[in-house]
Formats: sequence, structure tokens, C-alpha cells
Amino acid sequence: MEFQPIIDDIAAVLAAERGAGRVASYIPALARVDPAQFGIALCTGDGRVCAAGDADVPFSIQSISKLFSLALAMRHVGDALWQRIGREPSGNPFNSLVQLEWEQGVPRNPFINAGAIAVADRLVSACPDARATLLAMVGSLCGEAVAFDEEVAASEAATGFRNIALANFMRSFGKIDNDVDTVLDLYFHQCSVAMSCVQLARATAFLCRDGAHPLDGSTVVTERQARRLNALMLTCGTYDAAGEFAFRIGLPCKSGVGGGIVAVVPDRLSLCVWSPGLDQTGNSLLGMRALEMFAARTGLSVF
Ligand code: GLU
Repeated sequence: MEFQPIIDDIAAVLAAERGAGRVASYIPALARVDPAQFGIALCTGDGRVCAAGDADVPFSIQSISKLFSLALAMRHVGDALWQRIGREPSGNPFNSLVQLEWEQGVPRNPFINAGAIAVADRLVSACPDARATLLAMVGSLCGEAVAFDEEVAASEAATGFRNIALANFMRSFGKIDNDVDTVLDLYFHQCSVAMSCVQLARATAFLCRDGAHPLDGSTVVTERQARRLNALMLTCGTYDAAGEFAFRIGLPCKSGVGGGIVAVVPDRLSLCVWSPGLDQTGNSLLGMRALEMFAARTGLSVF
């Protein structure tokens, strides 16, 4: 299939709607992002990249980072990871404390904040320098160095009262082993990583290649782990809109409040769309529209 004309057309159709939605405003670095930007990029399993719009502009990957930290934790911790983290959609806001109390400090899934903080704790235990290890893994996957945005990381830390509460709460249940500040430092930094659509499409291509590294073919995660990552994206990857994403798009997706959404067509391609304006569920409004158009025009879906 020839994908370039399809994504060119999607970018052209959505040009009239650039600026729709509301940009995340909880930290200044996100609040000042120009809402009129839109980018789309895809990477096929055999490494061909197509891009349109603002596909080379770096943005804050935010919760998309939870994919990479989970992949790294699966690699280092294996199935023991699931002693501390569930695999069910939460049905509650991504930063909810209530459910965590009922469920004795075991987060519902690795993509809500509590789950991602629990994953960060496992990484701090497993890696002598987890921040550097995570950054090196993401850089290796996309074939270019990537960096933390220290302004964003500092703002996340300065305003992350709920995440701080979640981490301490889990610690009180004995579900966090490491110093809470160290764990949160990793979490806030992973959220701050800046990447473009092209970089993210490349970096997530291991998910459409049964876990094989997009550039050197080495094992990033096993085939079974890649399948599980895709399953978790489909059921839990888009805040409280996973049902709507499955219904309208039918692909495993992971979104972030920076306006990025990564989608995977297993065994075919990975895709990243970005537009900073969010809908009321916290997902990129135009990003979701673009993915819906892509699935409709290509007929690609897991269903
Ligand atoms: N960094 C923010 C937080 O942890 C938002 C992450 C996101 O959902 O994209 O609360």
C-alpha cells in the first residue's frame, strides 16, 4: 500500500481544523505550545518512513513514555512485574487515588499514573541509572539521541502533587521499594522527553515487529511481551477513552497530554500523530480524527 498520499491527504483535510481542542495548561511549557500544529508520521515494519505536516517538530511525549518504561521493565523484571501492577482498564481518571485505596496500593494497569510510577520503581531497582538507561533505549530505537526537557521535568516535579501522593500512598502499602523522590524523579523525567512524530513512529516500530529492534533487529522485548504491550495499549492506552478508540479506530494506541498519539498496526506499521489541542478525555482531538481517517482509508485495524 502507498501510504504517503494517504497521510498527505489526512494532513490536508485536517488543515482547516488546526487549533481545535484545548492545549494542556497545567505547566507553562505545555500551555505555551502553538495549538495550530499538526504532524503525522508512520514507519513500516521494514523501515520505510512517511511523514506529513509538522512531523519533525519535537513535542513533550508525556504519557507516551509509559510505553517505553513498561517495555524496559518487562525486559528487566519479566513476569514478576505483574505482582505489583494489574492489567485492567481503570474506568477512573488517570491520576485517581480512590481506586488505589480499595485495591491496596496495586494500580489497575501500567498506563495510569500510579501504574507508571510502580513501573518506575521497578526500573530504579533494576537499573543502576534508570534515567540514562531509559533515554538510551529510546534513542537507540529511533536512531537519534533524545533528551529530557529539564524545564518540563522541573515543572512536573513542582506541580505533581497528585503523583507525589500516589507514590507515597503506594509506598504506605509496601508496594514501592525505593525512595519516593528517586522514583518520581524518573517518572517526571520520562514524561519530559521531547520527540517528533517521525522519531516516535520509528521508536515504536518494535511493536509492529514482534518486539524486534527497528534498526538492528535485536530483541527489544519478546514476541509475547510485544503482544501484551499492544493489548494493554488497546485496553488502557488512551485514558478513559479506550472503548471509543477501539470503536472508532480499532488499533492499539497510547496518548499523552502533549497531544501525541502512537498507534500500532501489528505486523505492518507504527504511526504517530500529534496536535496539541486535546478533547475532554485528554486525547489529541485532531490526532484521534487523523487516526480514524487513517483506519477508514486503509482498512487497517486489528478487528
Ligand atoms: N505528566 C503528567 C502527569 O503525570 C501527565 C502525563 C500524561 O497523561 O500525558 O500527571
